[in-house]
Amino acid sequence: AKEEGRNRWTVFDASMRDAVRERVEIEVALRAAVAQEQLSIAYQPIVELPTGRLAGVEALVRWEHPVRGWLGPNMFIAVAEDSNLISALGAWVLRESVRQLARWRADGVVDDDFWMSVNVSPRQLGDAAFAERLAAVLQQAGVPAANLVLEITESVMVEGSELTERVLVELRTLGVRISVDDFGTGFSALGYLRRHPVTGVKIDRSFVKGLGTSTEDEEIVRAVVAMSSALRLSVVAEGVETEAQRDVLVTLGVPLAQGWLWGKAVPPDEFAARWSLGGVG
Ligand code: C2E
Ligand code: CA
Ligand code: CA
Ligand code: CA
Repeated sequence: AKEEGRNRWTVFDASMRDAVRERVEIEVALRAAVAQEQLSIAYQPIVELPTGRLAGVEALVRWEHPVRGWLGPNMFIAVAEDSNLISALGAWVLRESVRQLARWRADGVVDDDFWMSVNVSPRQLGDAAFAERLAAVLQQAGVPAANLVLEITESVMVEGSELTERVLVELRTLGVRISVDDFGTGFSALGYLRRHPVTGVKIDRSFVKGLGTSTEDEEIVRAVVAMSSALRLSVVAEGVETEAQRDVLVTLGVPLAQGWLWGKAVPPDEFAARWSLGGVG
């Protein structure tokens, strides 16, 4: 038994070593990428229902790894969160996406109320100077705070500290909007929606998937719409891939949607071309 135990440990140890090595390798390369601004941002449209008119856009970070090629955030955001890289990465994404919005606004190709949605990690909100720095970024770019939506996860509000709460209040005071991402996947207690300065929810893709085939998903979305209207929260349905799903969302009165049906996340010039935003970049 002793021998067996040692062997098992040896095997475990070797695979652990590989996993740790891979993680360290990604972290080292990511650190360089952040420092050298080798990341880029892809933009995905958010549209009004039922018209399909462009209403806003979500910024989604991308990384061209020197060896592995293009990587999606699922490959590296967790690594960035576990190391301290997420602060620098997140700050860069915010600065870059706000600047992009400023360019589109200056070109006169988007409406005054067109907004930029940016994903923010819990760690970023634990920084006491977050709102102040963001205010400076907005001011420098000349973008009104109301044209920026920060997408945060439910965990921020359920597990968040007093400091996080204060940062959220500061952001709202600034006029920045705050949307709960992946709504419905995290926690069942909804009381936090009243206690925190939230302005909207994004219905997770997992509930959109079955629309048209699953009456359960339909009932969940119906409930979210009713609740959001009572609490005066904005609603975006995400991950819409089919016309059948869109049609159900329209019937349920969901006002805004995002998904491959209207377009995947693409580089800014491609986004501008697709939506006839004129001036490139
Ligand atoms: P998310 O915020 O829930 O973003 C939506 C994800 O679903 C994106 O994946 C998007 O490309 C994908 N998607 C959009 N429409 C559809 C659709 O119709 N069908 C399907 N199957 N997928 C769709 P992506 O770009 O790989 O991003 C993954 C996650 O990484 C994001 O999920 C977000 O949580 C995180 N993330 C992305 N950019 C950032 C960032 O700058 N900072 C932080 N902290 N997290 C980010
Ligand atoms: Ca998001
Ligand atoms: Ca989401
Ligand atoms: Ca998600």
